[in-house]
Amino acid sequence: MRTPIIAGNWKMFKTVSEAEAFFAEVKGKAERPGVESVICAPFTNLPALVKAAAGTTIAIGAQNMHFEDSGAFTGEISGPMLKELGVKYVILGHSERRAYFAETDEIVNKKVHAAFKHGLTPIICVGEKLEEREAGKTKDVCKTQTEAALKGLTAEQAAQAVIAYEPIWAIGTGKSSTADDAEDVIAYIRGVVRGLFGEAADKIRIQYGGSVKPDNIREFLSRPNIDGALVGGASLEPASYIKLIEGA
Ligand code: PGA
Repeated sequence: MRTPIIAGNWKMFKTVSEAEAFFAEVKGKAERPGVESVICAPFTNLPALVKAAAGTTIAIGAQNMHFEDSGAFTGEISGPMLKELGVKYVILGHSERRAYFAETDEIVNKKVHAAFKHGLTPIICVGEKLEEREAGKTKDVCKTQTEAALKGLTAEQAAQAVIAYEPIWAIGTGKSSTADDAEDVIAYIRGVVRGLFGEAADKIRIQYGGSVKPDNIREFLSRPNIDGALVGGASLEPASYIKLIEGA
């Protein structure tokens, strides 16, 4: 049995005081036995959120990190820095990072290895562009990205990783994939993991992401292969985030 994982991806939203105000409202409410609740926030919010989350079941995650432990990389944040703060998760290879910050499959793979090296759980994003979907390449793209991201991991590490299938055309557009479509692609991705790591495929959690809202989350999570959601816009308001966790 896989524990569903709902992760809010705040992207570049919320100052520290806004993050603290959000947390004060969701504490004790965006928590449910049998559901993992994760908030992935901007770096500046992480110390305050980790402190606020102490004694709750809500885990805190980052949205990116560098693959080197330290070095002359102006403006970057490393795995050891996140680990020492008490951060548990890190989103890697989000389509916005691939599109605007030139993250390649190879870089994502290095970051995935760095996450495991430092005891962080990666939430690895894969997904096709609209033109790739229209050209019938959705599964090929997801296979390539999944295989590249997981390259060189042990089966034990793969079992612990989280994958987020996020069709790029569905992110922030209000146009979500249908639950059946998402289930079809996610089952396929699980098959790709099975081809690489055998039984680890039964343990790895695969989320759907892309315009998930309180009113459609239940539909996605009712599908056998969909183990949770990565949620952008609808994770920003406390009431909406609480409803997402209740809906899971
Ligand atoms: P969205 O974003 O829920 O606003 O579509 C999802 C994501 O980018 O992770």
